[in-house]
Amino acid sequence: MSAVIKDNAQGKTLVSLRGLNKHYGDFTAVDNLDLEIQEGEFLTFLGSSGSGKSTTLSMLAGFETPSSGEILVDGQSLVHVPPHKRDIGMVFQRYSLFPHLNVRDNIGFPLAIRKLGAAETSKRVDAMLKLVQLEPFAHRKPSQMSGGQQQRVAIARALVYEPRILLMDEPLGALDKKLREDLQDELRQLHRRLGITIVYVTHDQEEAMRLSQRIAIFSHGKIVGLGSGYDLYQNP
Ligand code: ADP
Ligand code: MG
Repeated sequence: MSAVIKDNAQGKTLVSLRGLNKHYGDFTAVDNLDLEIQEGEFLTFLGSSGSGKSTTLSMLAGFETPSSGEILVDGQSLVHVPPHKRDIGMVFQRYSLFPHLNVRDNIGFPLAIRKLGAAETSKRVDAMLKLVQLEPFAHRKPSQMSGGQQQRVAIARALVYEPRILLMDEPLGALDKKLREDLQDELRQLHRRLGITIVYVTHDQEEAMRLSQRIAIFSHGKIVGLGSGYDLYQNP
């Protein structure tokens, strides 16, 4: 664990959130939030329901527009860049797969809308099927698979265009405990193998501790604690 923290400290800043606000009418969902995300880290937003985790993630993905503040990636503002041009993949709690497409076509979908050629698409989809160990399921429809398998398809679909950043909003929340723990292990391995930056949302402290190099604790739209699970455990 301590080796990981050291690596982290030397890391380069990939994303900066600066003075980020999101208001809905009189209500402040995200309150003047500042955060630096390091390239290649696994960072988790941990907090109770309604604390502003999903809203912050949605602004990073581009599905919500900040009321004010800046989102920088490599020092470049993202606020006016549409979601599909952000080089960011996203996985939600509900698998949101296309029910009429089989696994192959679900995973290939982001490449189809980016108009990648058939040969390259096929090659990348094969690599993803292998990565999430679903090669035998390539021709099944989502309804013919378990929740955990569907979520692995969603992860493959988010990774297939090789985004620099993967955002995950309670992706294992709908799964039972055993499956959740298996997928937590898979995610950790995936992160290690790909070296991708992951920002993960959960309200489950145990899950945050298992997965993350750093945890940002959310409360009432603010980050009230930031550090490794070990740091936060020592100084709660
Ligand atoms: P979390 O993901 O931490 O559970 P959210 O970021 O989804 O919390 O929501 C933070 C707060 O903002 C909640 O109180 C929620 O009700 C409110 N909120 C989120 N989206 C909207 C919206 N579109 N309109 C009004 N309030 C919203
Ligand atoms: Mg949420």
